[in-house]
Amino acid sequence: MIIGCPKEIKPQEFRVGLTPNTAREAVSHGHKVVVQTGAGAGSGFPDADYTAAGARIVDTAEEVFATAEMIVKVKEPQAGERKMLREGQLLFTYLHLAPDPEQTKDLLASGCTAIAYETVTDPRGGLPLLAPMSEVAGRLAPQVGAWSLQKANGGRGVLMGGVPGVGPANVVVIGGGVVGAHAARIAAGMGADITVLDRSLPRMRYLDDLYGGTFKTRYASAGNTAELVEQADMVIGAVLIPGAAAPKLVSKAQLSDMRPGAVIVDVAIDQGGCFETSRATTHQDPIYEVDGIVHYCVANMPGAVARTSTIALTNATMPFLLDLADKGWRQACADDPHLLEGLNVHAGKLTYYAVGKALGIDV
Ligand code: NAD
Repeated sequence: MIIGCPKEIKPQEFRVGLTPNTAREAVSHGHKVVVQTGAGAGSGFPDADYTAAGARIVDTAEEVFATAEMIVKVKEPQAGERKMLREGQLLFTYLHLAPDPEQTKDLLASGCTAIAYETVTDPRGGLPLLAPMSEVAGRLAPQVGAWSLQKANGGRGVLMGGVPGVGPANVVVIGGGVVGAHAARIAAGMGADITVLDRSLPRMRYLDDLYGGTFKTRYASAGNTAELVEQADMVIGAVLIPGAAAPKLVSKAQLSDMRPGAVIVDVAIDQGGCFETSRATTHQDPIYEVDGIVHYCVANMPGAVARTSTIALTNATMPFLLDLADKGWRQACADDPHLLEGLNVHAGKLTYYAVGKALGIDV
C-alpha cells in the first residue's frame, strides 16, 4: 500500500502523523511511504531522516493526497485537505466529528473511508489512541502549574518540593483517570503533597494499591472537594464524563475561599472545563487571573511538547497502521473489532452511532 503523510496545517500544530521510525517499519512490511517536505520539522524530524528510513519526500500536500492510498495525520483534515480526499482513499487520524458538521459533510461527500483515532477501543474498554495524549497532558500539568505558581507569573511563590525546613506545595487533583494519575505521579516526583479526588471507588482502590505511599485519595463529594480546594496551592482539573461536557466542580464563589495566588490547571478545558471560571487559552497566552487565582487552561497541552507527543502517539497508532496497510481496512477491521470501532465514515455513509446521533444524520 502507498501510505502518505502530509504536513499538519492547523495553526500551532507541530505534531506529525508518521515518524521516521514508523516509516521504516512500514517500508519493511513492503509498503511505500510518501511524506511532504517539512512534515516532521516541528517534532524535530528532518526530511533526511525519512529518506534514510526509505520514504520518498514530495514538495506538496497535493502530491501526497494524489499518490497515497492511505493518508495518516494527527488533526482532523482542514477544509483544503478535505477537497483532496477521494473515493476509496483511507484516512487515519483524529476526527472528532460530533461537534463538526462541516467536516462530516465534506468527508461524506469525498467518498473516503475514515478511521478516527479517538473512537478506536481496547479490550479493557479504554481508548488506546487517546490515552497517550492524556498521559502527556497529565505529566505536563504539574510542570506548567509549578511555573504558574512562581511569583512573577502571579502565583503564590511556592516551590513544589519546598526545601528542608519549609513544607512542600499542596496539590489537589480532581479526577484520578489517565490524566490525574500521571499528574499526581509527576507532582509527587517534584516533592509536592498530593491528594487525588475521584468518584469511582474501583479507580481509587487501584490508585491506592499502586501509589498508596506516594499520594492520598479522597472521595470527590462536594464537601471534600470544597475543603481540599480551599487548602490547595495548586488544583489540577482532570475529570471526564465520556460523551458529556465536564461538570463544574468549583464555582466562582469558591475562588474567594482559596489561598491568594493559588493555581488552577484545568486540563479538562477541552471538554468545557471543570471550574466555573475556566476559559480556553493558548500556548502564546496560557494564563489569566480571576479573583487572585491563576488559571492555566490550554486546550491542546500536548502541542507544547510536540516531539514527545508525536512519538507517544505514533507508538500507539503504529500497530493499527501496519494492520490497515498489510490487510486493507476491510480485513483489518474484520479481524479486530476494536479497530472497527474507529470506523466513522465509509463511502458516503456515517458509520459511528454517537456521531450520527449528535449531528442528526442516519447511521
Ligand atoms: P479518564 O476517563 O481516564 O479519567 C477521568 C476520571 O474522572 C475518571 O477516573 C472518573 O471517575 C473521574 N470523574 C468523573 N466525574 C468526576 C467527578 N464529578 N469528580 C471527580 N472525578 C470524576 O479521562 P482522562 O483521559 O484522564 O481525561 C481527563 C480530561 O482531560 C478529559 O476532559 C480530557 O478530554 C482532558 N484532556 C485534555 C487535554 C488538553 O490538552 N487540555 C489533553 C488530554 C486530555
